[in-house]
Amino acid sequence: MGNDVDILILGAGACGLAAAIAAHDAGRSVAILEKLDRPGGNSALSTGSVPAAGTRFQREAGIADSPAAFERDLMAIADETDDPALVRRLTAISAETVEWLVDTVGARLKLVTAYRHIGHSVPRLHAPVSRRGQDLVDDLIAATDRRAIPVAIGNAARELIVENGAICGAMVETGGRQSEVRAGKTILALNGFADNAALVSRFCPEIAGAQYFGARGSTGEAVLWGERLGADLANMAAYQGYAAVAHPHGSLLSWTTIEKGGFLVGANGRRFGDESLGYSGFARIVLGQGEFAFAVFDRRVHDIAAQEEEFAELVRYGGVKTATSSADLAQFYGLDAAALGRELDAYNAAAGGGAPDRFGRRDFGLAPLVAPYHICRVVPGLFHTQGGLRVDGDARVLRKGRPIPNLFAGGGAAAGISGRTGALGYASGNGLLSAIALGRIAALAAARELDGAGT
Ligand SMILES: Cc1cc2nc3c(=O)[nH]c(=O)nc-3n(C[C@H](O)[C@H](O)[C@H](O)COP(=O)(O)OP(=O)(O)OC[C@H]3O[C@@H](n4cnc5c(N)ncnc54)[C@H](O)[C@@H]3O)c2cc1C
Repeated sequence: MGNDVDILILGAGACGLAAAIAAHDAGRSVAILEKLDRPGGNSALSTGSVPAAGTRFQREAGIADSPAAFERDLMAIADETDDPALVRRLTAISAETVEWLVDTVGARLKLVTAYRHIGHSVPRLHAPVSRRGQDLVDDLIAATDRRAIPVAIGNAARELIVENGAICGAMVETGGRQSEVRAGKTILALNGFADNAALVSRFCPEIAGAQYFGARGSTGEAVLWGERLGADLANMAAYQGYAAVAHPHGSLLSWTTIEKGGFLVGANGRRFGDESLGYSGFARIVLGQGEFAFAVFDRRVHDIAAQEEEFAELVRYGGVKTATSSADLAQFYGLDAAALGRELDAYNAAAGGGAPDRFGRRDFGLAPLVAPYHICRVVPGLFHTQGGLRVDGDARVLRKGRPIPNLFAGGGAAAGISGRTGALGYASGNGLLSAIALGRIAALAAARELDGAGT
């Protein structure tokens, strides 16, 4: 039976769109199927930041960097990973990936030099000026439009077609009707399983129960189908969390508020950990301490965070309260006022004293805090999972270490580069690097295999 398309891509986030562009430019017919009624997925919700080491943009900014330095940074925070080779591969191709995005895709990315991001020893994040992932997605979609690549929204892949152990496309549901789309090669760009509570409980129990804060499509089909195929899974317990989603507003409380000197307390007015673990690593601690947590900071910190659009909007919608004393601050949410007062005093003493506090926090930003104070009620969130299908250096999905014929994966569908377990191994940008770099090399390898097969 003939193929409908050379390369079928499932999922229209950054991974799927990048794969489609690369496959088209390699001379292959390609189509993308997207389950939801719009493309973009989590990529559109992200800040669009893609890390890369050794780009010409870094050189122009006088920043010395190399894939080896990037790999060292990732391995230092990942601690342990099921797949060090993938870390090496992605750091090695990170610069060409970002330059391809700018030069071939036309993505409007700029090197962020204003500050260094979590996990990176030098500035290496390349992001839209707006810091909105939607802009990056828009640029990817414009590039697929220019190439007349079909992006079929409202088409959910329901199952892979497997014949004699090889993948031959997917069963697709459109408006309640199922049909076959047959393809020479299939790329899974479906993201992970953060929107599938059962899979989160099974693989990432420490963050089960946190509010999922991503796009609705990440329901874990890549893992479910992969398990049925006997595919290898890796780094399944790794995820990216966020310790401070404003409640009930549902927007992120900028972590700048904490890095620049704020702290978090529970309803009892007491701190419960070292916030300098970072927004991802601290999410689990916030989840474990009670229903809500409360971020406390002062006017100077507030004014720095207010330069960020999302924080300014949260303030406009009343998510950040102000008081001139800690006792008044406690009243907004019925916190134990005496305990909050004691906690503020202890925190300020530690910040002024130069020694680590009782949780080991050493960096207090602008603290000691001074009145007037601000408070924001928060809950922890889960952004995305970082485990998935184990792939080789060309993004081929592996089964017992050998490629499953015709099947590729990238982005959140594949195993990530953020360590084996937990949220501490996530360096800013790991998600999009996996998405775009793996999507592109999957497409290039798929095209090469088709060329080799003479099809
Ligand atoms: C709030 C937030 C901020 C973030 N910030 C950053 C950041 O700045 N930098 C960074 O690197 N990472 C960031 N991340 C993570 C990053 O967004 C993801 O790692 C990355 O976008 C994954 O890309 P993807 O293409 O694999 O998945 P997605 O962009 O989610 O795309 C997957 C697509 O597949 C579709 N799909 C799913 N199942 C099916 C199916 N059965 N059939 C057809 N289609 C299907 C989905 O609907 C979706 O559109 C952030 C995440 C969140 C939630």
